[in-house]
Amino acid sequence: MKRIYLDYAATTPTHPEVVKTMLPCFTEAFGNPSSIYSYGQEAKGAIEEARVKVANLINARAEEIAFTSGGTEADNFALKGVAFANENRGNHIITSSIEHHAVIESCKSLEKRGFRVTYLPVDEYGLVTPDDIRRAITNKTTLISVMQANNEMGTIEPITEIGKIAKEAGVYFHTDAVQAVGHIPVDVNELGVDLLSMSAHKLYGPKGVGALYIRKGTKLVAFMHGGEQERRRRASTENVPGIVGFGKAVELAQQEMSEEAERLTYLRDQLIKGLLERIDHIRLNGHPLKRLPNNINVSVDYVEGESMLLNLDLEGICASTGSACSSSSLESSHVLLALGLSPEQAHGSLRFTLGKWTNEEEIGRVLEVLPPIVAKLRAMSPLLKNHR
Ligand code: PLP
Repeated sequence: MKRIYLDYAATTPTHPEVVKTMLPCFTEAFGNPSSIYSYGQEAKGAIEEARVKVANLINARAEEIAFTSGGTEADNFALKGVAFANENRGNHIITSSIEHHAVIESCKSLEKRGFRVTYLPVDEYGLVTPDDIRRAITNKTTLISVMQANNEMGTIEPITEIGKIAKEAGVYFHTDAVQAVGHIPVDVNELGVDLLSMSAHKLYGPKGVGALYIRKGTKLVAFMHGGEQERRRRASTENVPGIVGFGKAVELAQQEMSEEAERLTYLRDQLIKGLLERIDHIRLNGHPLKRLPNNINVSVDYVEGESMLLNLDLEGICASTGSACSSSSLESSHVLLALGLSPEQAHGSLRFTLGKWTNEEEIGRVLEVLPPIVAKLRAMSPLLKNHR
């Protein structure tokens, strides 16, 4: 059976061109970038080349990019780094209630260390209200962190507006752009952000590598102590193959982004329309327009998301319910609850995220397979019987 992968927000396959670019870093170009002989200097050169590519994609300067082990580390680095470095100015952080666990859990750990965190609500579409941010700022606020695009329901946040508010108030502004970079335009100056998290495996790069953009002049403490790598901000021998692969993935994304976004938006809208037409008691989660080109998230009443996933898997279709990190837990998604969904609606959610190898035939297959799965599950559902 041909498998249909529709979980590109969880991770993307590594692009064959990226793999090809990485391979020599394991063999002939294996040097430690800190070594002064040619092997080392070649590796260092390759890293610096990748740094320029990543910086270019988001309109930053190369020296403002610190490579990390992924998006989670970039988020931890931004939040803890700024909170601790600016403790003498204040202990208050503002974030939203729909952030990725990497941000929420970093905030929780800071709360245990005496910081105060405001988790702002969102509207029914998952949008943060900029005025709520303005009102939440106090003279103790040092950092605002709001994601650029949500990983579960794809809503794109008003980052530019929040950036202006942060700047006026003299507060650092971080955005988790892990799901946005490489998919929609990201320009750190237009957005007005001081820190921005990225991850390579969401844009056809390898897993285990990401980066934090740190605007020049931003005060933050180092994430790891040891050697002098990454301008002393993040010690440890660099993941040369990963960073080189990240650079190549970014280069490809830059070339293909606008065309790909248009293609995926068309497929996304076809799938949304088809699902809403073919299945009753279904709703689209997230904003209908201000959403990532590849994200479809629906709640299907009277059915469990896990049951739909397993049945789809039997048909060779990979999707997700909630975020990948919590797919083995039965807790309702904090993101869907924040939209005002009931725990039952949140449990009945299904996320399809499209990518480079998704085509119309695959969308057609989902539209053919899912409605009978829902009908079958509803026929056995105690949720529906209770409702009748
Ligand atoms: N932030 C967001 C919005 C994500 O979607 C993810 C991954 O799912 C992360 C952070 C974590 O990135 P990584 O897997 O590179 O640690």
